[in-house]
Amino acid sequence: MPSGADKPIRPFLIDNEWVAGGGESFASINPSDGSEIARIGSASPKDVDGAVGAARRAFETQAWSNLKFHERARLLYRLGDLLTSDSERIARVQLADNGKTLKECRAQVASAADTFRYYASVCETFETELTPPRGNYWTVTVSEPVGVVAAITAWNSPLTLEAQKLAPILAAGNTVILKASELAPLISLEYAALVLKAGFPPGVVNVVTGAGQVGRWLVEHPGVDMIGFTGGTNTGSSIAAAAGRLLKPVVLELGGKSPNIVFEDADLKKAIPGTADGIFSGGGQSCVAGSRIFVQHTIYDEFVRGLQNFARNYRMGPPECADTDMGPLVSFSHRERVQKYVESGLNDGATLSSGGIAPKGDFFDKGAFYPATILTGLDGRAQVCREEIFGPVAVVLPFQDEQDLIHQANDSEFGLAAGVWTSDYKKAWRVARALRAGTVWINTYKQLSIATPFGGFKQSGIGREKGVQGMRCYMENKGIYWSLD
Ligand code: NDP
Repeated sequence: MPSGADKPIRPFLIDNEWVAGGGESFASINPSDGSEIARIGSASPKDVDGAVGAARRAFETQAWSNLKFHERARLLYRLGDLLTSDSERIARVQLADNGKTLKECRAQVASAADTFRYYASVCETFETELTPPRGNYWTVTVSEPVGVVAAITAWNSPLTLEAQKLAPILAAGNTVILKASELAPLISLEYAALVLKAGFPPGVVNVVTGAGQVGRWLVEHPGVDMIGFTGGTNTGSSIAAAAGRLLKPVVLELGGKSPNIVFEDADLKKAIPGTADGIFSGGGQSCVAGSRIFVQHTIYDEFVRGLQNFARNYRMGPPECADTDMGPLVSFSHRERVQKYVESGLNDGATLSSGGIAPKGDFFDKGAFYPATILTGLDGRAQVCREEIFGPVAVVLPFQDEQDLIHQANDSEFGLAAGVWTSDYKKAWRVARALRAGTVWINTYKQLSIATPFGGFKQSGIGREKGVQGMRCYMENKGIYWSLD
């Protein structure tokens, strides 16, 4: 692995100026071959102070919040267009940073550009409410930006996760400090460059890089008014504790252990590839991965054979190749973590129906590859059935009937998403309503729309992103009473 000490440090953005950072620089590693692709500057407490100060000044001068809604929208449209015009290069930046396939990275650039356009239109068409008066006055409820928002994100899909933070936060009139994961920081720096190119006023968007402590400094900084966070449940919980102490509002998008449910009356020609993609696409490194597959006992053996067949043909390979289904995992240490979970499942008595061993030979020796893996023969109490693995590992569990299924599927501390495969539309509706999850897919999985609110029940989060509500959550409501006497 090259040391990379000779590489220039990639700076981050404060007040529309590039800053190398007072912290110790770190490497961004390509998980396909372990090479260092860039050295990234790390923010010191002083840099965090500088970024928050710039965002606060920009907020207080109202250079952004006082723009007319359609004027703010214009810059958001421009960001979307700039992303589209450089989409191929930016897709490849994410591919090198976190190992996602080119197909997925291209789709994510398109989705991120649409996110900026969607919130431009939400911003432009936003309405104020006139509430019925109860006396000789009139009342109006206006929505105003919260102020300075810290947006902290995970490594698995920086393109879309960061767009889902920046677009609504900015549309609402806030200023922002974005902090991406240390494991995949490059896209946040691409967004910083696009913000400069689009012509945002100084201090409106600031981007800092570094590890978790940079995130913690942001959360605890008195100049930050609100936190938007996407990441693991444990981190979310410590952020919520700090925010609770400081009385700062939070939106938390956290982990999942989502059930994907196949009834005996499902069309298996669709349900097998649908459930397989639900867990294996993106190497299972997706918050909504359908990692607990529940199958009605009458079709269990047939289903497992079909899933096994699918998993064995799921092509691991270089993420840039058109026929690759799954690239490497994000890092070698994450692969070790996934492997340990599989071992724990085997120790608890699982049968390894597919995968479970890192591939060897050729380019596989250099990268953090891990195969599509299926564990059967467990009951829902095993650690692998309860904890988020965040890798391409499915546990397949049988159920007797609808009642048994609902009990098992809801027996989880998480509640992010779920899938139901059945040809009985009444049952589909009943089960969808009974599942404690923020998103339920019926006869499909992982289809997402920026217009539909997204978030988790239980330990999977607090609040909702996306949709009009996704912008409202970064606003404060103010009731104004105007006497007519
Ligand atoms: P982490 O929780 O480890 O990290 C998320 C971000 O928080 C990173 O930028 C991290 O920095 C930062 N961070 C770490 N500790 C703190 C702290 N104490 N205070 C403030 N910030 C901190 O998550 P991962 O990056 O490993 O992402 C995987 C997780 O994200 C999975 O659980 C997945 O389910 C979840 N996720 C949820 C989504 C949703 O919409 N519900 C979508 C995508 C992922 P650094 O990593 O640099 O230390």
